[in-house]
Amino acid sequence: MLYCDLHTHSTASDGTTDPQDLPRLAKAAGLGALALTDHDTTEGLVKCAAASRTENIEFVPGIEVSADPSMDGRPRRGTLHILGLFVRANDSMLKAVSQRMKEARDSRNPAIVEKLRDLGVDVNYSEVVDLATRQGTKIIGRPHIASVLISKGYARSMQDAFSRYLGQDGAAYVRRDRLAASNAIESIHHAGGLAILAHPMQLGIREPDLLITFIHQLRELGLDGIETRHSDHGAKDIAQFEQLADRFDLLTSGGSDFHGTRKSVRLGDQKIPIEVYKRLVNATTPFRS
Ligand SMILES: [Zn+2]
Ligand SMILES: [Zn+2]
Repeated sequence: MLYCDLHTHSTASDGTTDPQDLPRLAKAAGLGALALTDHDTTEGLVKCAAASRTENIEFVPGIEVSADPSMDGRPRRGTLHILGLFVRANDSMLKAVSQRMKEARDSRNPAIVEKLRDLGVDVNYSEVVDLATRQGTKIIGRPHIASVLISKGYARSMQDAFSRYLGQDGAAYVRRDRLAASNAIESIHHAGGLAILAHPMQLGIREPDLLITFIHQLRELGLDGIETRHSDHGAKDIAQFEQLADRFDLLTSGGSDFHGTRKSVRLGDQKIPIEVYKRLVNATTPFRS
């Protein structure tokens, strides 16, 4: 098998594919290795690992941890996600992180709906929960609230719902409790994993010098690699991130960020050479017990 996909989501977070079905789909897409990296949870890993053995495909147990992009006390917008690859699913520190993030989400969504209601928008939290349940996802998030707003005619599109209500400048925006990048990296290492900066494009840092400083800071915190290839990255971006990986002696990774039918990207889309997977496996060996 020539390719791998090291960034995917299942119904354990906000994907629409059951973790036990992913390996079969990965195999059909011609992949030799697959990582499951659900948002802030390792819940799908055991099922996905078992199905990977059945399909005879290499499996990378992973997680995608959301962290605070602000650093050195400087507030920053944008999205900082850190992938943990080759993590132990039952690690105590990683489980504590999952629990904290779950509590943060559980309190945030009702707070958003409360704000919407204060704005005169006729929406109930139970409608949001019903929609998520129908989609079969375990993690409820702003996209679900957006879908309800669209279905009730309060927004024209996902983008409209986010720009007017749910996004950082929206009228019903609620800040979420966020993990410091140092905690995210530390917990991934505690679980025996490699910490990889996911989709650096989404950091929203356009200034090359600022990006260099940012990655340098993450490197100091123990970052192991950069996801250079991702569905959001064009050829120029990939070249830029590969240069950065080189400069800071970081590993490289890549994946589609497959979410099932919720997003248009397909499993294996990025055509990541299997060598990328092999280099990562080799990098983990010294940490393994
Ligand atoms: Zn992400
Ligand atoms: Zn992702």
